[in-house]
Amino acid sequence: MSETPGPVTMDKIVSLCRRRGFVFPSSEIYGGLGSTYDYGHYGVLAKNNIRQLWFQAMVQERDDIVALDSAIILNPAVWEASGHVAGFSDPLVDCRTCKLRFRADRLEDAQCGRKPSKRPGETPDCDLTEARQFNLMFQTQVGAVEDASSTAYLRPETAQGIFINFKNVLQLARRKPPFGIAQVGKSFRNEITPGNFLFRVREFEQMEMEFFVPPADAEEWYRYWVDARFDWYLKYGLREGNLRKREHGAEERSHYSSGTTDIEYLYPIGWSELEGVANRGDFDLTQHTQFSGTKLEFVGQDGERYTPHVIEPAVSIERIFVALLVDAYHEEVVADRERTVLRLHPAIAPVKAAILPLIPRNEDMVTHARGLFDELRRRHLVEYDDSGQIGRRYRRQDEIGTPWAFTIDDQTLEDGTVTVRDRDSLAQ
Ligand code: ATP
Repeated sequence: MSETPGPVTMDKIVSLCRRRGFVFPSSEIYGGLGSTYDYGHYGVLAKNNIRQLWFQAMVQERDDIVALDSAIILNPAVWEASGHVAGFSDPLVDCRTCKLRFRADRLEDAQCGRKPSKRPGETPDCDLTEARQFNLMFQTQVGAVEDASSTAYLRPETAQGIFINFKNVLQLARRKPPFGIAQVGKSFRNEITPGNFLFRVREFEQMEMEFFVPPADAEEWYRYWVDARFDWYLKYGLREGNLRKREHGAEERSHYSSGTTDIEYLYPIGWSELEGVANRGDFDLTQHTQFSGTKLEFVGQDGERYTPHVIEPAVSIERIFVALLVDAYHEEVVADRERTVLRLHPAIAPVKAAILPLIPRNEDMVTHARGLFDELRRRHLVEYDDSGQIGRRYRRQDEIGTPWAFTIDDQTLEDGTVTVRDRDSLAQ
């Protein structure tokens, strides 16, 4: 077995996802809609696994974090208080020549609409406007009357739904700092330059956890969460050489943050943010206290009183999914034949095992195979496949990352054993 050379490109990942029904461009029969995607069967299964493993690490295995599921459309005052109405924007420039729109702070990563080898603004024909601020929140209307008072927003992050429920959880879940609230759900951003497949989309599933701590312990907990989240990626198979922690300098951080670290992955587009971990201080609870008039603070039994500081690990399932696919993708030559294989961690793999009758026309083999399948499917996500030659069936499972195949053959009929094929070593 030998690896075929060649880098893993985003195009290869997109093509595999499409070929095997992981992900499709959304609204495709109507020409699509920029940077929105639909997930097919294996995509749904993989996403479910990522979500469940995050939840397991963040809630199930801990004493100090509880779950929440807040609404997507919140009172618009929430976004005034959080600063999103005034400041959740990117600087935008238009090119009057090619009519494309770019983020002014990312021009060095963009391509000129007419000469893709150049950056916007680099050719004499480029005619860029001055940068102006473009708010990334999607607006909508609540109720039947369309006026300014009915304006509402689709949430651009799940975090604010957590802050506004701080008091509920503190009282009703009887928590005291340090404790956290975790939430998974859709967030929406009208990104100016979406693209790179699922890396930057306008609708994504965020997994955020706000960890409330006594102010004096914030720095320690911040370091703790950077390491804990980094280790989580190693645990599920991302190669250490493709991961790094990048701490923001003061000029890059939000004004209220006293520390932000991006966990970056070496995507085909270069090192980019996979997950962000931020020490947000008391900014969020203080803002919502001021705007709502409800005091969001911790009062201890001995009268001790303070506004907790917040440590926030935030990530989207999409960015994890792409990183896992890129990391797992391998093209190799086995016995003179090429195969594409996703070496996904078994916990991430959409299908855990395939059950294959060697000769689909052999009734005994089929009966055995169906019996094994019915037994396994009660507890695991397994797949029964009797279509096509066995080699092709193996290749199909390799491409969706199924770690094991159980083949029912003559030997099974003799002694009840099955042939187990290991995806990575191909040992049988
Ligand atoms: P970027 O600088 O890449 O736009 P950000 O700093 O705005 O990201 P945050 O606001 O910190 O991102 O969001 C937290 C996490 O949510 C990110 O680390 C990323 O995993 C995810 N995320 C943010 N925007 C998108 C998007 N448009 N598509 C997919 N995932 C996203």
